[in-house]
Amino acid sequence: MLNGAATPVTRKFTGAFTQQATLPAEAMQAAMSVLESGRLHRYNLLPGEIGEVAALESEYRAWQGSAYCLAVTSGGQAMQIALRACGVQPGDVVLTNAFTLAPVPGAIAAVGAKAALVEITDELRLDLDDLEQKIAETKARFLMLSHMRGHLCDMEALMHQCDKAGVTVIEDCAHTMGARWNGRRSGNFGKAACFSTQTYKHMNSGEGGLVTTDDPEIIARSTILSGSYMLYERHGAGPEPEDFDDARYQMPNCSARMDALRAAILRPQLAQIEESIDAWNALYSTTNQGLAASNSIRTIARPAAESLVGSSIQFRLPGFGPAQCQSLLAAATLRGVELKWFGGAEPVGFTSAHQSWRYMESQPMPRTDKVLATLFDMRLPLTFSDADCAFIAELICEAVDEVNQPHL
Ligand SMILES: *Cc1c(COP(=O)(O)O)cnc(C)c1O
Repeated sequence: MLNGAATPVTRKFTGAFTQQATLPAEAMQAAMSVLESGRLHRYNLLPGEIGEVAALESEYRAWQGSAYCLAVTSGGQAMQIALRACGVQPGDVVLTNAFTLAPVPGAIAAVGAKAALVEITDELRLDLDDLEQKIAETKARFLMLSHMRGHLCDMEALMHQCDKAGVTVIEDCAHTMGARWNGRRSGNFGKAACFSTQTYKHMNSGEGGLVTTDDPEIIARSTILSGSYMLYERHGAGPEPEDFDDARYQMPNCSARMDALRAAILRPQLAQIEESIDAWNALYSTTNQGLAASNSIRTIARPAAESLVGSSIQFRLPGFGPAQCQSLLAAATLRGVELKWFGGAEPVGFTSAHQSWRYMESQPMPRTDKVLATLFDMRLPLTFSDADCAFIAELICEAVDEVNQPHL
């Protein structure tokens, strides 16, 4: 076309990137039973009754392969509780990834600690060389390791490094529920792990969270922190009563309990999570293959040791400047494709960058900033089909071409 006239867009995706799958029929039935019973509080049980929350804790522990599990109100609460239960005190430094989402620095701030950011690599994993340097500089004794968008770093190398330096690792597994590193489940490496069951994660109860650990004192402290009153013997995957001897007097009640309704709708989802994981990975692989067709797009390499859960996908456009990235967002939107860009100056929706977390000390992160400047992100809800994902990838490649050659 001559004179720089824009090519008319003829093809458009009409699915919704925020539409999650319907909950299983068993979840609806279980929810109705809880509603009929009127007993929604986790400790409101009949004699001998286990209750939905304790049952979820037992089932999650068995599936995760951890010694203990505690269900709470959100992933963010799981992180605050785990940080405190692991011994973080106000004023302590907690290392964390410079590339993560707002609940992570938020949890660190909520316990009165100071976040020290660690750079990421081009493949979106924690930069272990920078970690080494930051441990030496800050003398931090804690790392809140965020497996952001599911990109696990070399977990054996990381644990070796942190064990040697006396750094306690707490894993943020909001995006890695079900993922593995060398066959071992994400969450089973550090001292404690935090999961989210918020709508956009791997199980959906609207809001919700889980803490897992193998340490009886950490789970006892977490349980009291979650607001168990003194009813901790009604938990499904907790430690022995004597493990609460100190915690029951030392830990404040922060009222972050999960309720029976949410637990009831999570249990049937847990029962079919392996199928969900396979479905996400099929969508991921189709999308990734489609994106790889573009010469401009850099897909993210996944290490052989990692078994991922592809509930979202990331890609970079290393040749693009900020104006081109903005144009790509617009060109994708025209095609019905909802992309997020981590290089924007302002936080948008769920997406924000470390410069926007102004309640903490600003820290130069040149390597991370360079990666984020051209990093795009997209959800892959299970309501999409394989054909949808192939089409979306084609539309993204088309949008990239349009930005590359605006005058064609
Ligand atoms: C969603 C999320 C969490 C937990 O968030 P909640 O909304 O509080 O459940 C933690 N870390 C990351 C990286 C997340 O995306």
